[in-house]
Amino acid sequence: MDMIDPFGRTISYLRVSVTDRCDFRCTYCMAEDMAFLPKKDLLSLEELDRLCTVFIEKGVRKLRLTGGEPLVRKNIMHLVRQIARHLESGALEELTLTTNGSQLSRFAAELADCGVKRINVSLDTLDPEKFRQITRWGNLDKVMDGIDAAQAAGLKVKLNAVALKDFNDAELPEMLRWAHGRGMELTVIETMPMGEIDADRTDQYLPLSLLRAALERQFTLTDIRYKTGGPARYVHVAETGGKLGFITPMTHNFCESCNRVRLTCTGTLYMCLGQEDAADLRAPLRASEGNELVADAIDEAIGRKPKGHDFIIDRRTNRPSVSRHMSVTGG
Ligand code: SAM
Repeated sequence: MDMIDPFGRTISYLRVSVTDRCDFRCTYCMAEDMAFLPKKDLLSLEELDRLCTVFIEKGVRKLRLTGGEPLVRKNIMHLVRQIARHLESGALEELTLTTNGSQLSRFAAELADCGVKRINVSLDTLDPEKFRQITRWGNLDKVMDGIDAAQAAGLKVKLNAVALKDFNDAELPEMLRWAHGRGMELTVIETMPMGEIDADRTDQYLPLSLLRAALERQFTLTDIRYKTGGPARYVHVAETGGKLGFITPMTHNFCESCNRVRLTCTGTLYMCLGQEDAADLRAPLRASEGNELVADAIDEAIGRKPKGHDFIIDRRTNRPSVSRHMSVTGG
């Protein structure tokens, strides 16, 4: 039975945050001294696999592992290999992940071996000093090595950059040329008001309508119908021959076509990235060896999927729309 929400949207895409921990502290994502979930609350890899399997049986065709940083979860490749059996059986169409790239040189070949075909790497700047500044703890060289390893392993790499006013806006044309020159797509994302951070989001927020207008002074952008199952809208860039995606949760709400739900590493299911309502799947998962209870809990949760998010960033509403950080539910 397909999962269909109250607005008639079929849910076929599951994003799984396998840990809320990360080896970076990106300033727009986290506070520097983050409190993480207690380890005792985490689902085991076996439990995560069991939940993913129930979702796949209920119609999920695309599954993305995220975090925190998914590749810092201990034994993560065990989970990847387990889930990959659903690729082999044909039940799952795509298994992918979103990563900061820091651990990719270790894992790229094995990911490809498991049947992962493409990955998203988050990268906001090509300048090593600015990279250190925005990630607080990151090392650009390691990420570049990771991207090299991913491409060498045959993985298709898409870069995601959060557009940040007066930080990387002037650099984005160069990043676009660089990414397309290496055969990678680039997607730019508007910053979302999720969780308390040390900075002021109104200072960082750059509406992508402004960025697009600026890029159009240098590039010929043509809207195209290309879709990857996510919320990005794409343009073709005539000068580079590549594709550029825009993810605009703030300036253009795309919730009408939402096909996804998000599971955290504690078994909490969020039906919307931008709302607080959630369902606990850990209790029904642990209450019985069979999957009926958890399948019923998923149906009940999908029946509560809201129409959309209500993100606001302005000086008057200077607080997060949701209290949890992006690192809890992942990108
Ligand atoms: N660690 C992995 C990574 O860096 O890709 C996966 C998790 S990270 C939370 C997923 C994506 O969310 C990254 O591209 C990150 O830049 C983005 N992100 C984090 N906080 C955000 C926010 N407040 N608004 C928009 N994007 C955000």
